[in-house]
Amino acid sequence: MDIQYWDKETECLPRKDLEAHQLQALKKIVDQSFKTEFYSKRLKDAGINSGDDIKTLQCIRRIPFTTKHDLRSAFPYGMLAVPKSDVVRLHASSGTTGIPTTIYLTKKDIEAWASYMARCIYATGCTRDDVFQNMITYGLFTGGLGFHYGAEKVGMMVIPSGSGNTARQFKLMQDFETTVVHSTPSFLLHVESKMREEGVKRGSLKLKRAFAGAEPYSEDTRKRIEALLDIDVFNSYGLSEMNGPGVAFECQHKNGLHIWEDGYIAEIIDPDTLEPLPDGEKGELVITILCREASPILRYRTRDITSFYTEPCSCGRTHRRLHRITGRSDDMLIVNGVNLFPSQIEEVIMNMKEVGNNYLIVVEKEGALDRLTVKTEVNADNFMDDSRPMNALKERIARTLQVSISINPRVELHENGSLPVSEGKAVRVIDKRPKDV
Ligand code: AMP
Ligand code: ZN
Repeated sequence: MDIQYWDKETECLPRKDLEAHQLQALKKIVDQSFKTEFYSKRLKDAGINSGDDIKTLQCIRRIPFTTKHDLRSAFPYGMLAVPKSDVVRLHASSGTTGIPTTIYLTKKDIEAWASYMARCIYATGCTRDDVFQNMITYGLFTGGLGFHYGAEKVGMMVIPSGSGNTARQFKLMQDFETTVVHSTPSFLLHVESKMREEGVKRGSLKLKRAFAGAEPYSEDTRKRIEALLDIDVFNSYGLSEMNGPGVAFECQHKNGLHIWEDGYIAEIIDPDTLEPLPDGEKGELVITILCREASPILRYRTRDITSFYTEPCSCGRTHRRLHRITGRSDDMLIVNGVNLFPSQIEEVIMNMKEVGNNYLIVVEKEGALDRLTVKTEVNADNFMDDSRPMNALKERIARTLQVSISINPRVELHENGSLPVSEGKAVRVIDKRPKDV
């Protein structure tokens, strides 16, 4: 296999040099963090007064963790480290509601992000001769523009098709001879079943590769997509707090995701004790971003559960590999690639006077896609046998939820007291999706 590197010197940097770079970059980002209202207090409280207090990479442990809650509490500009006039773009976490977790980028940040993305894309074997159809949501979500800029940097022809509308996706693939697509794994499976349904012949497409991410999926699912579509599928991991995609990606060997350690310091901790775990043990991924000036974020608790490979990859890259994400250490759900906390649903429905006290969130597969159903009880005073007012209420709940969670849920109304009540801790979520990760 011919290995191609976007930036061979950096991608194959000896570990000693990589760690020396990390230490310098960590000192720098700590200094940069002091320019934010949030970190200047947080770091001082932890006894850190400047980057010079970080003497070795192990000193990172003196820095307190940052959580999603911290990002929200600092909204909108408490974590901004540059003058607002230097910011050229903002992004937010998918499906966020109420107070979003927002990150800001300068021109230099966008350039750095695009370079990491280009590195990922190139590592899979793509070149400027490829035609790339970006079948993912554009907008505040980072998956759209993140891949877009990276693919342009590689020199590919980019088709910013966005997500959904399979008929149009097929037409674009055929008209422009798309060779690479990016999407969630569930949308790729959906595309395949639509292909069969609409009689689109595989031979009419030039597809070779797909990048799939934004939600957890198993090795079996990867193999299934690869067999059904006759393509290579590469796992793409990222989160908006750390720019978005471009954090970790599989190389041509498709065996674990290289996390770009010149741009990110990754640690695995025990989510209960918060102590660091030895290499190879499974725990929560904590990341410090080194490659951003506008929004420095130190020791961010991603809540994603994974572990490091202990042996180096045969591609020659020295940046360590992560196992695919197997779950989360919090209750966040990912529905068709969109993040969702059960509390977001609760906030919306409990604000509606017709809604009773009990509700249940059900997530299941409908074909290849995820389907979210919200079952709520209706107060005795508002529950009627007449279906018209009940349907109107159902629609209103669905619409209000959609605005808030960016997912179109199915809503079921139930008579007061009819939903199951669990003894002890309430069970609010039933996730019926196959657990094959
Ligand atoms: P967002 O901030 O909206 O981009 O969502 C980021 C979250 O999506 C991550 O923290 C993960 O929980 C999830 N995610 C992204 N990529 C993957 C992937 N390849 N495998 C599993 N989960 C992923
Ligand atoms: Zn590799």
